Amino acid sequence: MWDAHFEACALRARRASNVSFFVESHTGAIPPWEGRQLYTAHVDPHLIWGCEVTGVGTGAQLSQLEDVQHAFLRRLLRLQSRSQLCILFTETGLWPIRFRRLALQLRYLHYTLTLPASHLASIALRETMSAARESQSGWFWDLQKACRDATLDLPPSPTPDDVAAVEPRLKTALYNYLKKSVSDSPKLELLHMRPFYTGKTRNTAAVMEFREYLRVKCREHRQALTSLLLSDHCLAIELLRRGTRTRAEKVPRALRLCRFCMADIEEPLHALFVCSASEELLTLRRSFWEKYELSTFGNHNTSHRNLFHAAELQSLPHRDCLHALLSSVESASVLGIFASRVLSLFKHTPMYEPSDEEISAYIEIHGQQG
Ligand SMILES: [Zn+2]
Repeated sequence: MWDAHFEACALRARRASNVSFFVESHTGAIPPWEGRQLYTAHVDPHLIWGCEVTGVGTGAQLSQLEDVQHAFLRRLLRLQSRSQLCILFTETGLWPIRFRRLALQLRYLHYTLTLPASHLASIALRETMSAARESQSGWFWDLQKACRDATLDLPPSPTPDDVAAVEPRLKTALYNYLKKSVSDSPKLELLHMRPFYTGKTRNTAAVMEFREYLRVKCREHRQALTSLLLSDHCLAIELLRRGTRTRAEKVPRALRLCRFCMADIEEPLHALFVCSASEELLTLRRSFWEKYELSTFGNHNTSHRNLFHAAELQSLPHRDCLHALLSSVESASVLGIFASRVLSLFKHTPMYEPSDEEISAYIEIHGQQG
């Protein structure tokens, strides 16, 4: 029934999205925070237009809108088109359009339930609720289905209080969905049980919010951090995850060895904090820690009592060290320079690829793991 409406909304949202990025030809790359604001002001209104009446939409209708949202956020974060979807929301704090439309529709239901019984919208609501009770499709029937899809229960004759109680549960359902998507993904292991540091205090990071490291000013440095954290980089753990034209099978995780030391898996933490087989890498790391110490404690006018010294950070588990550095834009900026140089060093050194015989021999003994 609403196909034409959804198509028109998707088309307008795509146009608005293209226009938003068009300014990059004059201004350079749009930083993520500004891009998020452009999205909220120019693209989002088309993606939710009339959703109180049309409902969340069928799978096919909704996927047109989701395509626009995903493409915008991937372009903003400079992620490839096959990147995981959950990270588009965990890193920006924006809601997936499916959940956002459902939240708006629930808010509209709440409003309609408080209208006088003689109001036309109230009469229409009573009719659609009575049709749903007789298993006839309609606005309320579709809303109940959308709630069930989001693991929520909407009573057949809800009161305003019932609806108000569903809204916070929707937020919890969204958090659970994103948490599960992240923890089920082997690509996103750096984000599993993610910590966030306020000074030296370790907390659990929010499931979704606009992340501090996305405020790093230099695009190249910011992108290096994004690619390492979100598994969109040139290290063997990622590149050997898939088969290629010359190699049908993915390489088992244990054989994705570091191109410098051949002693450990080549993954972000190894490259940043562990590998000592390249003199150039060691020099970059030394210079990074010096810069970190200088930028954090070089300014005597400010109080730094609760900040980590470089030596303290180095004594933390590597994963915690990375997240502590990413927790403030100042330290993330210094880390970004280092990360971009490390990635460039790895990129310009040939990667180690095990032979087919080695892969077969490994799989024969251990099975296809990782
Ligand atoms: Zn190594």
